[in-house]
Amino acid sequence: MAGTIIVGAGQAGAQVAISLRQGGYRDPILLLGAEAYPPYERPPLSKELLAGKRQTEQLALRKPDFYTAQGITLRTGARVTGVDRAAKTVLLADGEVAAFHQLVWAAGGRARRLTCPGADAAGVHVIRTIDDVAALSNDLTGGRRRVIVIGGGYIGLEAAAVLREQGHAVTIVEAQDRLLARVTAPPISDIYRQAHHAKGVLIRLGTTLSAMTTQNDRITGLRLADGEEIPADLIIVGIGIQPNIEPLADAGVECPNGVRVDAACRSSDPDILAVGDCALFPNPYAVDPVRLESVPNAVEQARIAAASILGTPAPAPAIPWFWSNQYNLRLQSAGLNRDWDRLEPVGNPDGGPFALRYFRQDRLIAVDCINMTAEFNQAKREILPVGC
Ligand SMILES: Cc1cc2nc3c(=O)[nH]c(=O)nc-3n(C[C@H](O)[C@H](O)[C@H](O)COP(=O)(O)OP(=O)(O)OC[C@H]3O[C@@H](n4cnc5c(N)ncnc54)[C@H](O)[C@@H]3O)c2cc1C
Repeated sequence: MAGTIIVGAGQAGAQVAISLRQGGYRDPILLLGAEAYPPYERPPLSKELLAGKRQTEQLALRKPDFYTAQGITLRTGARVTGVDRAAKTVLLADGEVAAFHQLVWAAGGRARRLTCPGADAAGVHVIRTIDDVAALSNDLTGGRRRVIVIGGGYIGLEAAAVLREQGHAVTIVEAQDRLLARVTAPPISDIYRQAHHAKGVLIRLGTTLSAMTTQNDRITGLRLADGEEIPADLIIVGIGIQPNIEPLADAGVECPNGVRVDAACRSSDPDILAVGDCALFPNPYAVDPVRLESVPNAVEQARIAAASILGTPAPAPAIPWFWSNQYNLRLQSAGLNRDWDRLEPVGNPDGGPFALRYFRQDRLIAVDCINMTAEFNQAKREILPVGC
């Protein structure tokens, strides 16, 4: 009997399966994952795993026998390449066809890559999967390396912090005029610039590159738009992700920037739901539908999707939140700071606990807290959904 097929055995996909069983779902659940691993946590990839403080097996979301015990058929190394909405089947890369009653698309995203000359050379890395970190760690062996991190977003900065603490020479190249420009306001960017600078990381802001230089198809550095060359032994590209939506989009499901879903996580085809990094969701804390990339978001949407399938009330909307660890800075962010028009600093930006409160039309909409958990918890209670 065709039950639920979940495409993507990551944080969101695993949670859908778990929540379905917790809610009493009795039909078959087939959890298909393209990677070779059972569902695992991604946040440690650029933190503890890269630092060697945790091992691959410790990232698993559940013990290996959990899925069988729950009656969840987990298939790793199983990539879905097509969806037939009329027949209600998915096509796998090995040619197998599987039928569904409900399909949950939880395929996350893949690391965005550069297209400039040299971008495919050996020594160019991204950080999205366990295999990516294994390849990067392998390339880092053999002493002090010169590493360029392209992109001053959270993942690039976390990797820069880990590698600097391991003694590597690290340069961050960022096209914008400040770090974290897409996700925070200037005072937070400044704190991170100072922290990395104090640790000896070189930071090149407002810098665009024209090519990666290579020798024998191995990276030797970067050529900037102004012609300057920066030598490097390896390069980490941290410029965001592209949602994995192609098989669904090809099947005619609405996928503008991610799979467009409603508040019940149903796509333009009501038998197909989408959750996690690949879902464009009408988050009650955002003015417009938004595609968020965080663990809490993946878990919340998975619970909503499971409730939709079960026909039970959806969980109350939770405030979006996120964290990042770099050096001794523990950032916790709550709310969505888009279109803020006023900032309110709390605490000491020069080394002490610090928080930045974001307002829009005098309403608190978001907060970034550095080593200030009490403020984070307080703001989470104060920030309300749009229109409340
Ligand atoms: C290095 C790194 C650090 C992060 N740090 C944080 C953090 O500190 N805090 C935080 O909140 N979030 C963090 N995140 C983001 C968080 O991990 C993601 O938001 C979360 O993993 C999203 O879960 P997901 O299930 O939607 O997608 P994913 O975890 O990406 O899982 C999707 C799975 O689907 C598989 N898949 C894709 N296409 C197919 C297909 N066609 N067929 C079958 N399977 C397919 C993929 O291989 C993947 O295994 C981090 C992410 C990364 C990469």
